[in-house]
Amino acid sequence: RGVARAILAGASGQIRNMATIGGNLLQRTRCAYFYDDAARCNKRVPGEGCDAIDGFNRIHAILGASPACIATHPSDMAVALAAFDAIVHVEGGAGKRTIPLVDFHRLPEGRPDIETQLAPGELITAVELPTPVTTRSTYRKVRDRASYAFALVSVAAAIDVAPDGTIADVRIALGGVAHKPWRAFTAEAALRGQRADAVTFRAAAEEELAPAAPLRDNAFKIELAKRAIVATLGDLTGEPA
Ligand SMILES: Cc1cc2nc3c(=O)[nH]c(=O)nc-3n(C[C@H](O)[C@H](O)[C@H](O)COP(=O)(O)OP(=O)(O)OC[C@H]3O[C@@H](n4cnc5c(N)ncnc54)[C@H](O)[C@@H]3O)c2cc1C
Ligand code: SF4
Repeated sequence: RGVARAILAGASGQIRNMATIGGNLLQRTRCAYFYDDAARCNKRVPGEGCDAIDGFNRIHAILGASPACIATHPSDMAVALAAFDAIVHVEGGAGKRTIPLVDFHRLPEGRPDIETQLAPGELITAVELPTPVTTRSTYRKVRDRASYAFALVSVAAAIDVAPDGTIADVRIALGGVAHKPWRAFTAEAALRGQRADAVTFRAAAEEELAPAAPLRDNAFKIELAKRAIVATLGDLTGEPA
């Protein structure tokens, strides 16, 4: 359900009907400076500089950014695939290999122009979804308009609650916050074995977002991401946020 909801949250019906899985994973950032030839952009011209850092950066990253690039990855589907341990199958001149989706996209570091682990000439041939840890999964997308808008913050999550009310297993990934789908490993570790309630969810969200670094215009994303995590886990467990 989480993957289906993520796909349905993307773009419009017409675009989704034309788009492909490989193309969606490899779509480039929506950073306006990347598309503006008059702006400096290290992703477009390595070494040129980044006009977003001192510019209008409301949609940009709060986690994993670098002094070279603060862009976010725009895909909804990729966030759900990262949460649910998808495997990307690729094939190129050196043969076939697989890459876990959580490792497929790169953080910008000093080379934001290199966005994935794909080698030159390699093609995505399939994306495999393993048996889920639980069928209780969902995707929540927070955006400026109810349709046809990219995520400011999104959360893909699955949670398995034991009969005694503790969390047996959990998967969480965030979108709209980093150069790649952001798997919330810190929050997952904080949640396993704990009671499935709003207090625990909030504490785990706080831990995950502790390293977040706001820019001039996007500090709101930090609280938004925390609340989105709590609300999404609340949707799945019936715990009021
Ligand atoms: C107005 C608009 C709004 C959108 N809103 C959203 C949104 O809200 N959420 C969201 O997730 N997406 C959104 N999208 C993205 C959209 O859903 C498509 O996924 C995206 O535009 C890519 O299109 P495509 O699949 O036709 O890929 P293409 O444009 O055909 O390909 C993109 C890139 O991937 C490469 N490529 C494609 N397939 C492979 C492969 N198998 N192996 C290796 N390389 C490959 C191509 O060479 C190209 O470089 C939006 C797009 C538009 C235009
Ligand atoms: S944030 Fe990244 S994509 Fe945007 S202008 Fe800076 S280098 Fe380019």
